Amino acid sequence: MITLENKVALVTGGTSGIGKATALALGTAGAKVVFSGRRDLEGEATAAMIRHAGAECLFVRSDVSSEEDIKALVQKTIETYGRLDCAFNNAGIDLPPKPLHEQLIEDFDKLMAINVRGLFLCMKHEIGQMLSQGSGVIVNNSSVGGLVSFPGVSIYSASKHTVMGLTRGAALDYAKQGIRINAINPGLIATEMTDDRLGSTANALASMVPMGRMGQAEEIAQAVVFLCSDAASYITGQPLVVDGGFTAS
Ligand code: NAD
Repeated sequence: MITLENKVALVTGGTSGIGKATALALGTAGAKVVFSGRRDLEGEATAAMIRHAGAECLFVRSDVSSEEDIKALVQKTIETYGRLDCAFNNAGIDLPPKPLHEQLIEDFDKLMAINVRGLFLCMKHEIGQMLSQGSGVIVNNSSVGGLVSFPGVSIYSASKHTVMGLTRGAALDYAKQGIRINAINPGLIATEMTDDRLGSTANALASMVPMGRMGQAEEIAQAVVFLCSDAASYITGQPLVVDGGFTAS
């Protein structure tokens, strides 16, 4: 049985969707959970839900595009629970689908500041702490868009391919130092991101998935719990694709 008893886990963007489901799943598996987000109300509501499930947790308001915020988030985790065993770098945004020449420079910069620079900052400060402990696990939320691409999403897809590069390169940097670093690559998952962006086309897209449905945030959460656990002790530098068979064809 997979357990995260006595582990401390950190989740970014934990106030909704995949991050919220994963913060709950990590807590249910036995970890003490620190999770971040930019929205206080949603953060406190999520914290109440995780505590109701019997886990210890702490919400920290934090923006991944701010290095000061990320430093403070890792420090707060150590002050509160004494260590950092597992980090799920999940916070991310997408853009309305458009061909590349119609995309705005400001949108490119905003997305890269969160999906790439923000994730790099998280890894940098998490790894600093994990090196001092001699162990740790990082899971980066990429996407199937980090392995293949789709029309209209070139910038998002570029950011998620970069997440794969950061994952693989850093996995090699720290493989001998007790730190495992992997990516999770969700397919089409029913969250605010897909609801807002896809609206009524979500069902049409879901019918193109071999399993015939969108995935649920909880199905990603369970895969992250596995990667964080000792059951995945020989896995590093890898994508774990959870997409209902979408990229198999
Ligand atoms: P979501 O919009 O519910 O979650 C995104 C979370 O990131 C939110 O809680 C949001 O507040 C947070 N966030 C955004 N910018 C932030 C910032 N600057 N600082 C801190 N937090 C910030 O959508 P989701 O689907 O749960 O997305 C989570 C991750 O999963 C994203 O990285 C997304 O790219 C990835 N993903 C989603 C899907 C999907 O189909 N939903 C598929 C593949 C990958």
